[in-house]
Amino acid sequence: MKLRKTAAAAVAVLALTATATACGGKSGSAGDPPPSKAAGANAPKLPTYPVAKDVKLDSPTFTKAKKRGKLVIGAKADQPYLGFEDQSTKERTGFDIEIAKMIAADLGFTPKQIEWKTVDSGVRETALAKGQVDYLVGTYTINDERKKQVGFAGPYYMAGADLLVRKDDNSITGKDGVKGKKVCSIVGSTPLQEIKKPQYGAQVVQLGKYSDCVQQLLTQQVDAVTTDDAILKGYAADNPNKLKVIGKPFTKEPYGVGLNKDDKALREAIDTSLENHVKDGSYQKAYEATLGLSGSDYIAPPAIERY
Ligand code: GLU
Repeated sequence: MKLRKTAAAAVAVLALTATATACGGKSGSAGDPPPSKAAGANAPKLPTYPVAKDVKLDSPTFTKAKKRGKLVIGAKADQPYLGFEDQSTKERTGFDIEIAKMIAADLGFTPKQIEWKTVDSGVRETALAKGQVDYLVGTYTINDERKKQVGFAGPYYMAGADLLVRKDDNSITGKDGVKGKKVCSIVGSTPLQEIKKPQYGAQVVQLGKYSDCVQQLLTQQVDAVTTDDAILKGYAADNPNKLKVIGKPFTKEPYGVGLNKDDKALREAIDTSLENHVKDGSYQKAYEATLGLSGSDYIAPPAIERY
């Protein structure tokens, strides 16, 4: 209860800050404060992750990273509270960023030894298959289709596709209300596949970045944005007077850490790392200091899959 109050207060402060900066609703614009910073003095504190020493792992990805002296991690840059890059400071914040950092620490890499690469939804499989990133933490749904191309550790979180609409629009109250409406989603994402199904009867607009869909919603070019509730709540929290999430998820989106398909040793090491951070409470702390501030209460993550 106490925590909830703290989070609510933090969101209230955040709402004020977001309005005051009047960024035109475009999350990720230069000048926006990073969400965790904007949340004020009452905000839950981010944990730190002790860096493991003398890690030995029979993993090609790990061996390459060790040689180069840094890890290359793929992340999103325009998802507040999840994977967000402040355009002026280049600082990355959000729950996915924390997940990536805790794993890096367990592999023996300090935050300074991380090189971040922004990887949008449509190019994740290519980035992993080509070895452009060592692993990727970016609201990445585990599914069998993707497992043909990439490996997944986790799941570390369960999201579900939902709808983001303008606050004053009461014409859409759930997935059955999108018939004939313009609904924006992102190339290469599972919610785009879902909303294209004829049963919904939506006019689908496909873009490359979530922030572009949100911009089109604010400027009335589309009627709704569909993707995971966790992502949409972040945009709604940053635009509390203009946007709302319907709150009736209609798919299951278990998030995994993407990595090279054949690097089983790395996959198992990341699974163990995630399990340990859930056990020692740092996972929950990270959650409450990031995603928890956008209006999703903490729930224990699903069990690790290990395949
Ligand atoms: N979780 C969904 C996916 O992996 C949607 C979010 C995203 O595009 O990253 O496709």
